[in-house]
Amino acid sequence: MSDGREFDLAIIGGGIVGTATAMALVRRGGLRLAVLEKEMKLAAHQTGNNSGVIHSGLYYKPGSLKARNCVAGREALYRFCAEHGIPAERCGKVVVATSEKQIPALDELQRRGEANGLDGLRRLAPNEIREFEPHATGIAGLFVPQTGIVDYTRVTEAYAEEVRRAGGEIMLGTQVRRVVREGDAMRLETTAGTVQCRLLINCAGLQSDRVARLCGVDPEIRIVPFRGEYYELRPESTHLVKNLLYPVPDPEFPFLGVHFTRMIAGGVEAGPNAVLAFEREGYTRWSFSLRDAAGTFAFPGFWRMATKYWRMGLGEFARSWSKPAFVRALQALVPELRPEDVERAGAGVRAQALERSGKLLDDFCIVETPRQIHVLNAPSPAATASIAIGESIAAMAGADFGIA
Ligand SMILES: Cc1cc2nc3c(=O)[nH]c(=O)nc-3n(C[C@H](O)[C@H](O)[C@H](O)COP(=O)(O)OP(=O)(O)OC[C@H]3O[C@@H](n4cnc5c(N)ncnc54)[C@H](O)[C@@H]3O)c2cc1C
Repeated sequence: MSDGREFDLAIIGGGIVGTATAMALVRRGGLRLAVLEKEMKLAAHQTGNNSGVIHSGLYYKPGSLKARNCVAGREALYRFCAEHGIPAERCGKVVVATSEKQIPALDELQRRGEANGLDGLRRLAPNEIREFEPHATGIAGLFVPQTGIVDYTRVTEAYAEEVRRAGGEIMLGTQVRRVVREGDAMRLETTAGTVQCRLLINCAGLQSDRVARLCGVDPEIRIVPFRGEYYELRPESTHLVKNLLYPVPDPEFPFLGVHFTRMIAGGVEAGPNAVLAFEREGYTRWSFSLRDAAGTFAFPGFWRMATKYWRMGLGEFARSWSKPAFVRALQALVPELRPEDVERAGAGVRAQALERSGKLLDDFCIVETPRQIHVLNAPSPAATASIAIGESIAAMAGADFGIA
């Protein structure tokens, strides 16, 4: 048990956003800083259970935080991986339209990609799709050369190593339970003793709204968990997909639709779906937490969202419980895929901020209050964008807290 450890700055959350923020801050020097992570390892939640895709910046509204941080963060991430010997591959991806009604959305993706500075986007005719993905079928496609793959757990560990090397502390098994203001300082009561700090940054992902409340801040949003379940191609079927193969996403919905992803460690995953989850950190179809479920259902925004998306939600539940339904969604991209080509794999849970109005918050959301910064919405592509997000939080902290 540590007793009354003192720091200038405490970061709550040892996912990729918390560690990237810590790395950006220690690079500025002169700060006693700690990252407090409740689990016994880093990247235990969203970061360690994601698709491992380095996103290009194709999807996001030009000028949005997602667009700017994804484009800048992607290149910074490729550089970081090269400098730290972390395998990362810029393999490119293909987005495929399978019906006429998806063409306007594909056009819009191309327009957004160009506006976000993606060079070398290439529109593909049906026969050209097969040059990239010989088993895919579609009526039109878009090749995106900037997209790549990486292992985000390794990236997070490397960020943390940089923090340690610069004198920062990474405290595992340290769950923040209570935050008490004491004049200019804050006392954090944790499962590993008391931590004092002057400044606090909340990067708690799936728990970020609760951590904001612990800090006396009304986050105005509620984190709603959406589980993403994966299948993987059996080793004898991985030839069906070369790299990354995506559908045209429904522009009404913040998720990308089930897709195929070649993993940096080998193998090909298919998924994830986006199922409303009844437990924020629950990774199976049976996971249930009364506290988490009640928190979702008691929020007025949930019912407003449910009215709008119930049909899509039912489809996602069907794809969660029925393998044939999941495989049918994948067959839209690769018609020759058979149910026996895939088997169930892991799952991740996305932290998606929901407004009281029932709107799913699309952009990243970072809120500043006196002596505190709260990251309240950092969904995909926040792993890709992590270095850029960390830099911008460090800049905010610089301005707010007077750090150079
Ligand atoms: C299924 C899925 C697929 C995705 N695919 C991609 C992708 O391919 N590319 C991409 O760029 N992004 C992807 N994302 C998004 C990306 O993974 C997240 O945006 C990113 O990991 C968010 O990082 P984070 O640090 O904010 O959250 P997290 O990784 O969830 O970290 C938050 C940490 O805070 C800790 N914590 C919470 N409460 C406390 C407390 N009270 N005290 C101490 N510690 C606490 C948690 O234990 C956790 O480790 C995906 C996400 C999911 C779920």
